[in-house]
Amino acid sequence: MHKVKNLVVGAGLSGAVLAERIATQLKEEVLVIDRRAHVAGNVYDFKHACGITVQRYGPHIFRTDNKQIWDYLSTFTAWHKFCLHVSAWVDGRYIVLPFNLHTLYQVFAADKAAQLEKKLLAVFGLGAKVPVLQMQSNPDEDLRLLGQYVYEKIFANYTRKQWGKPAQEVDPAVLARVPVHISRDDGYFQEAYQAIPARGYTHMVENMLRHPLITVQLNTSFEQIKNNIAYERLFYTGPIDAFFDCRFGPLPYRSLRFEIEQKNTEYFQPTAVVNYPNDFAFTRVCEHKYFLDEKAPVTVVSFEYPQAFKPGENEPYYPINNPQTDALYQQYAKEAAQLPGVYFYGRLGGYKYYSMEQAVAAALDLFEKIKSGKK
Ligand SMILES: Cc1cc2nc3c(=O)[nH]c(=O)nc-3n(C[C@H](O)[C@H](O)[C@H](O)COP(=O)(O)OP(=O)(O)OC[C@H]3O[C@@H](n4cnc5c(N)ncnc54)[C@H](O)[C@@H]3O)c2cc1C
Repeated sequence: MHKVKNLVVGAGLSGAVLAERIATQLKEEVLVIDRRAHVAGNVYDFKHACGITVQRYGPHIFRTDNKQIWDYLSTFTAWHKFCLHVSAWVDGRYIVLPFNLHTLYQVFAADKAAQLEKKLLAVFGLGAKVPVLQMQSNPDEDLRLLGQYVYEKIFANYTRKQWGKPAQEVDPAVLARVPVHISRDDGYFQEAYQAIPARGYTHMVENMLRHPLITVQLNTSFEQIKNNIAYERLFYTGPIDAFFDCRFGPLPYRSLRFEIEQKNTEYFQPTAVVNYPNDFAFTRVCEHKYFLDEKAPVTVVSFEYPQAFKPGENEPYYPINNPQTDALYQQYAKEAAQLPGVYFYGRLGGYKYYSMEQAVAAALDLFEKIKSGKK
């Protein structure tokens, strides 16, 4: 039986943070395994044959207001500042997302747009972010119709494609998050720090894992080794239901398929990400050279197709959170709490959509609890 002090399952961002902290702060040995052939989990990127850095699992922009997290990651990478701009392809033209005062003038005649702008500024004020649901229930008919327009043209079909069911059946919390921005700022995110590791995410994660006390073993699943390994602590960032052989039933996830293609043109689209709410089976197209502002006569794009999750066939990307699945997750979480020295965390271990910032924050928090003996 192979013995290790700390076993980390998953070499994604969550696993890398814990391994790094344990090795550098507790000065203990860590074995990190991942069933994939590479580190970095879903933030993995690689150099395409044409020289462009490609994010294999979709566009990732690191963003945070938390200086501590920014400083922590900055010890492993320099940054390329990047402010994401997104377009949507609607009725045969590109329009600005999130829907804002500029978009108004792209989709309506100038006099109509000016009239709506005046009302939006008077009712909500410059800088407000108004959830589309709230706009749809406004007493003013023009604003109600605007809310309806945004819902139908930008949200409803996109949601149907993304989640595989009508927008009305999706958790209302998702809809509540879709705002109209009463603003002329076309930036997609608002956080103080928005950037991409200057040499890519994989390089950053490799730096986190480069330590004499850390061993990384790829192409290795927990299931393969679990009967032949003993550990004092196990940090598990894989799906929590799979760990327990789905004994209470499988937790649902949404999966994605990425088709990566080189195009023989300098630029394929006007922004790094273009959403296709109403046309085609893919939801969005990402053009990778924008992220690090890489120059090349050709370009690389990836088409993102949402699909049903099939264990063993594709990857679980998004937990499908709703009151029923959260209750099912709680059953697994209770079971997990009975296992001393075993910690479930990360996007799949915690069955929760985590941005990178949240994944790093949760892993640092878990480490602090372990260090102080609270866990
Ligand atoms: C399409 C998409 C776009 C995103 N865009 C952004 C963005 O712009 N900004 C942002 O902040 N966040 C974004 N995110 C979220 C970001 O990807 C996550 O926050 C981050 O990847 C979480 O890291 P993790 O380590 O928890 O999970 P993962 O990256 O999923 O890592 C888990 C690892 O565990 C491995 N594993 C699982 N089970 C086992 C097992 N049984 N045995 C061995 N290994 C196992 C997996 O192979 C995987 O490598 C996006 C997510 C997606 C899906």
